[in-house]
Amino acid sequence: MKSETVTILGATGSVGTSTLDVIGHNPGSYRVTALTANRNTLRLAEQCAHFNAELAVIADPALENELYSALKALGSDAAVMSGEAGLVAAAGLPEVDIVMAAIVGAAGLKSTLRAAETGKKVLLANKESLVIAGEFFAKTAHRNGARILPVDSEHNAIFQALPAGFEQDLEQAGVERIILTASGGPFLDMPAEQLSQVTPAQACKHPNWDMGRKISVDSATLMNKGLEVIEARWLFNAAPDQLEVLIHPQSIVHSMVAYRDGSVLAQLGTPDMRTPIAHALAWPRRIESGVDRLNLAQESDLSFRQPDLERFPCLGLGFEAMQVGESAPVMLNAANEVAVQAFLEERITFNAIPSLVGEVMQNLEVSGINDLDDVLMHDKAARTRAMELVKQIS
Ligand code: NAD
Ligand code: MG
Repeated sequence: MKSETVTILGATGSVGTSTLDVIGHNPGSYRVTALTANRNTLRLAEQCAHFNAELAVIADPALENELYSALKALGSDAAVMSGEAGLVAAAGLPEVDIVMAAIVGAAGLKSTLRAAETGKKVLLANKESLVIAGEFFAKTAHRNGARILPVDSEHNAIFQALPAGFEQDLEQAGVERIILTASGGPFLDMPAEQLSQVTPAQACKHPNWDMGRKISVDSATLMNKGLEVIEARWLFNAAPDQLEVLIHPQSIVHSMVAYRDGSVLAQLGTPDMRTPIAHALAWPRRIESGVDRLNLAQESDLSFRQPDLERFPCLGLGFEAMQVGESAPVMLNAANEVAVQAFLEERITFNAIPSLVGEVMQNLEVSGINDLDDVLMHDKAARTRAMELVKQIS
């Protein structure tokens, strides 16, 4: 079989590195064409040299020369580009079949969209793109024949539990509900009064998953699940009231689909992103991922419970933004990105994250989204407001 060509946007991150690991487990099946990173020139150059990439893109234009030297020192003759134009170019290369969208945050929107516009097989990890521009994104992919394959473990599980050939019609597929599981994060059982004291290091220490810092904080506040219900809405064309969240601390059942006849289908596996990555990479085939195999007899009990929206208000804010629709998810996401960054820089407390996001959402007026400019305008307004609030309270 002919090897497929791949671009990885956000190659140096947690998902990007796991993607390269899966590719490494399948020699001869994939060819790495382009890799991108934000600022880590050294790791990017090492990856390009190891996988023989043809194009290296660094988002920060000031680091172009540094990247060039690092590549040369490692014997790589990859071409160098920088800035958002470079990211967009890497996503749209005509010779590329597959684009892994693994940049964190709204910063990944334009390059991820470019992959959809150019009809790629888009492996979607960058959930924020779908949260802020879901409808627009889905239409762009449909119009250009791009296939979106979910990499987020819950959405990948749902995709696997839906009928083969599912065409965005849950009614026709006999689906009643989609149940996203959530680990509950590192503070699942922490009393409310202690939550204001937690540090970024504690928040980033997830019990089951090893992830980037932003998504780790989102998992600790449960905003991650709030973003994921919105992501699921657009990926599976679900109505807001078809989406549910269930806490499952062991992260073995990655999500479930409940059908009209009472059947509930789930996908299980060890908590390792290489499984959903391998699934999306090879779909509809199956390839080796390198993960430890699940041994259910050795697992402690699998348990499930309702989420506590009082201690974790971010999840409620996510549901609210999904129900309100229009620009509300854009505001939710932008305010959250600013709040998480401020928390990581120890400028605000953990509990200030939901207060700040809630305040931005209450203060700004919701209006319709017609195009990408609308998304960017609302994103900017919410960021500005959130930054003002950070200044006031820090
Ligand atoms: P990470 O922080 O480990 O990596 C992010 C990558 O994006 C890095 O390569 C970084 O260089 C690049 N990047 C960061 N800011 C950028 C910018 N402004 N412009 C261009 N590139 C930039 O993050 P991650 O944990 O790998 O997560 C990536 C995405 O995947 C996120 O949207 C996250 O929600 C999603 N996701 C991650 C996991 C996981 O297990 N890590 C699971 C599900 C979904
Ligand atoms: Mg997830």
